[in-house]
Amino acid sequence: MERITATFDTSAADHMSAATKFVHDSLMKVGIEKKLLLKIELLFEETLEQLIRHAPEDSRFHVTVRRLMGEFSVSLSISGEEFDIYSTTDADETEDSYTTDAIRAILLKAYGEGFKYSHKNGVNRVRIAAVNSKRALYSTLNAIALGIIIGLIARFLLPAGVSDALKSLFLSPIKSMFMSALKMIIAPVIFFSIVTCFAQYESVSQFGKLGAKVMGMYIMTTVIAIALAIGLFFTFKPGVVGSALTGEMTAAEVSVDTSVDTSLIHTITGIVPSNFLAPFLESNALQLIFLAVLCGISLGMLKDTAGALKEIFDNLNSLFLTITSLIAKVIPFAVFCSLALMIMQLDFSTFLSLLGALTLHIGTMFGMITVYGLLILILGRLNPLKFYSKAREGMITSFTLSSSSAAMPTNLRICTDKLGISPNICNFSIPLGATINMDGTSVALTIMGLFLARVYGIDVSVSDILSVSLTIIMLSLGCPGVPGAGLVCLGIVLQALNVPIEAIGLIMPVYPIIDMFNTMSNTTGDMAASLIVAKSENLLDLKVYNE
Ligand code: ASP
Repeated sequence: MERITATFDTSAADHMSAATKFVHDSLMKVGIEKKLLLKIELLFEETLEQLIRHAPEDSRFHVTVRRLMGEFSVSLSISGEEFDIYSTTDADETEDSYTTDAIRAILLKAYGEGFKYSHKNGVNRVRIAAVNSKRALYSTLNAIALGIIIGLIARFLLPAGVSDALKSLFLSPIKSMFMSALKMIIAPVIFFSIVTCFAQYESVSQFGKLGAKVMGMYIMTTVIAIALAIGLFFTFKPGVVGSALTGEMTAAEVSVDTSVDTSLIHTITGIVPSNFLAPFLESNALQLIFLAVLCGISLGMLKDTAGALKEIFDNLNSLFLTITSLIAKVIPFAVFCSLALMIMQLDFSTFLSLLGALTLHIGTMFGMITVYGLLILILGRLNPLKFYSKAREGMITSFTLSSSSAAMPTNLRICTDKLGISPNICNFSIPLGATINMDGTSVALTIMGLFLARVYGIDVSVSDILSVSLTIIMLSLGCPGVPGAGLVCLGIVLQALNVPIEAIGLIMPVYPIIDMFNTMSNTTGDMAASLIVAKSENLLDLKVYNE
């Protein structure tokens, strides 16, 4: 571990720039990559100013920069009264300060568990952390490589007794523990993300016409993504019907209830639960989303009186997001186990089906990237090639980080510095998009949901497709921009399609690959939508864009 500390005095005229320079130099010294440096610096400046505003005059503040394995963090402490750092309603408000506060709140929330505020014994503390993207990428790639190697060795070289023991004493138990953890987290994570997402419409509506246009673009691209995924799925039909049921691995675990009524009218009437807790206990996807939207909208309508309640929901959302991130940390390990198991047990045809679905998913992602270009050309009347060449860095960052939230600072910088979008738009649209605009994830949920229904031999009717599409639109609003979030959402989609949730096990080994492409499309969609809205509002610097 490396650690560098310094103390500054707010009475010194240059305390802000001195502290920022200290953070910059120290992070460079401990070997941070440029993208992470930018992310931490941006947050540091935002929060330091806030903390100083709530501190007594002439206070001293302490800054500590740390590096622990692949994680870089900056801690900041200064005495002062406790306050709501995410609040958008300070006393002496002007319109401008309200907007700045709203942008800051969205920015901080979008960082999720990378940002922590606490107050203890009259001291305000903030911790900002970021993880080295290359490290995260390599650990996933290593897990995939190792899973394949161990799986092949166990299948073809080890004596049957040893490979059976490896399977039943190590690989299977770890895989089932991970699956149980995923199942456990699905309902609360979806519920609280959707509630907080809808509750923040009050602050989104602050942005008036701009906010409505950005939201409209986001929803439009999500609908296109789902339609494209459905169209391509039924054109190429990856997967052999019912093949998973004959596979040795899943036959014992699975019981498909085909007697469930999935007609559209039944689906619609079933959306309203007759009991508030049942959707949680039964993990009923549509009912859960219905409850969450209802609670979110009502919370937004409560306005001023909802302060404390909103805070509770926000905190619960952060709690479950943090749990999700903790579970996601073991994804490489779970991927290793499930990939090794898959290679040891799976028949070749199911493996080929999975590869087919994966190829279709990746192809659809490139389809979406083309759609963004067409929208930029048609709606924005701009040269899409410029967009691709300038957004490339953000696309690669999102791909390697597998997290829209973590890639946000890079994408923000690209929007302002390279694409020429006014900060008035992207300071609000990019953090918002990182949490609610998930085109790539929607494609994955559609293709993988339909694929698993197919390999589990479940008939999907037109009304199933309509209701699952609606579910996916809602999930894309609630899905957090962190690695592995789509896997959690897939659990809900499978329930909506009446596919056994164990089916996720088939996708798990390849999810890191799916996740990278999802995230790339998710954030490219945010940048493209921001660009089109900026052009239509005359908030685009064409000189910078065409440079
Ligand atoms: N990791 C994705 C994101 O952050 C979400 C997903 O799992 O698809 O955008």
